[in-house]
Amino acid sequence: MERFPQYLAAMARANNLENRVQWLFYPGMLQDSSDKWWDDFGRRTTAHEGIDICFFKENKKKITHLTKWAQIPAMDKGLILNRCEDFLGESLVITHGKFDRFSPEVIFVYSHLKIKKDLTPGCWVQKDQIIARIFDTSLKQSKLPPHLHISCIELSKKKTGDDLTWNLFSDRKKVNLINPVFI
Ligand SMILES: [Zn+2]
Repeated sequence: MERFPQYLAAMARANNLENRVQWLFYPGMLQDSSDKWWDDFGRRTTAHEGIDICFFKENKKKITHLTKWAQIPAMDKGLILNRCEDFLGESLVITHGKFDRFSPEVIFVYSHLKIKKDLTPGCWVQKDQIIARIFDTSLKQSKLPPHLHISCIELSKKKTGDDLTWNLFSDRKKVNLINPVFI
């Protein structure tokens, strides 16, 4: 339960934000929501497969959001299993499993990124290591502002790295989503 707030604190540190920064979430940014938090605030075509991190407020300043320059840290030490395209940018698939209470079948997907070139499957990352910047959504004429999406997924069967793409992650019959807020 403490890991998600710790990760938000790591995001703040990586981006030189104040300690007392408050992260803000629309309901549509949360896992399993069917609401959009952008454009017309209508309905999503499928329920949300994770959590979106975007808006924050520093002490007494107005609400702002992460930009394409935002630095994305890794949540823990981990092994990169794959990098793949998502509907905005790229996703990095990491298992942090061996290094904490998770089993190796639990994977984390960090999405809508511009991933560092040298981070390829088989590479290790360290806790708080910068793995990417956020993808510049204006390049795709998206109405979504730049943001980090995180999914935490329990695989029902052992998969190889090449299987670990959004074809699989978006298929709820094949994967069990764990809410990143409660990890
Ligand atoms: Zn998302």
